[in-house]
Amino acid sequence: MTSQTLSVLAELGVKPLWRLRAHEEAAAPEAPAMAEAAVQPEPPGHRIAEPERPPRPAMVMPERQPASTPTVADAGLPLVPGLADMGWDDLAATVAACQRCGLCQRRKQTVLGVGDHQADWMLVGEGPGAEEDARGEPFVGAAGKLLDAMLAALGMQRGENVYIANAVKCRPPGNRTPEAAEIDACKPYLLRQIELVRPRLIVAMGRPAAQALLARELKIGAARGKVFHFGETPLVVTYHPAYLLRNPLDKARAWEDLCFAQAQLEALGPR
Ligand code: URA
Ligand code: SF4
Repeated sequence: MTSQTLSVLAELGVKPLWRLRAHEEAAAPEAPAMAEAAVQPEPPGHRIAEPERPPRPAMVMPERQPASTPTVADAGLPLVPGLADMGWDDLAATVAACQRCGLCQRRKQTVLGVGDHQADWMLVGEGPGAEEDARGEPFVGAAGKLLDAMLAALGMQRGENVYIANAVKCRPPGNRTPEAAEIDACKPYLLRQIELVRPRLIVAMGRPAAQALLARELKIGAARGKVFHFGETPLVVTYHPAYLLRNPLDKARAWEDLCFAQAQLEALGPR
């Protein structure tokens, strides 16, 4: 692990969890690895404890969910004429002119997505906030900075092997959660984005994204550490970065989730 990753992780607030674990380990002498950790002296100075990715055997084993094969055509939504044949330019123009739901009324502009059109990773958030609405790019505000830091900790960066989209392409007023009807109205565009990118792994960040993609109710806390599927594509869920800003103690869990996601991708082998 590089020192850059270490400092990014420290910024993410992951370090306190490891400290907590080391402390817990001290109280659990029956676990040899833990006892060993407990007798290691704290290094002097400000060096932070060597962070480790969550040990894979300790992760919840992937729980295979039945595969469904949602497509733009069979999602049971009113069709967007010609969508199934659209490339990126037509898709962007169509979304920019879209009035399929009431969110069109107060947007400054639509926010389609950003990143590598051939990415292995596709991250899906909820919807644009004020800064995204102003700039036309997803995750450029405070939540986006956290997301970028988490990507950096995985050795990734925006635009390289990652495509980032949202469940709805127009800003919900006051950053409220998009309504189910709005997510449904916007879903054909998300499905087309997934068809075009053909990611190897999808990460749904937060409940609205997970529900949009899996068409079922779920709670993030219960769905973490499981492998769902969107069609044939593995999908994992994690907390939304904006939630993490309000609940920093869960950042370490989100980091675990991203490591879990990366392990799923690695398990697929080369493309
Ligand atoms: N939150 C989201 O869900 N998406 C963004 O683009 C920004 C914040
Ligand atoms: Fe169209 Fe989606 Fe914007 Fe609604 S949120 S107007 S469906 S682009």
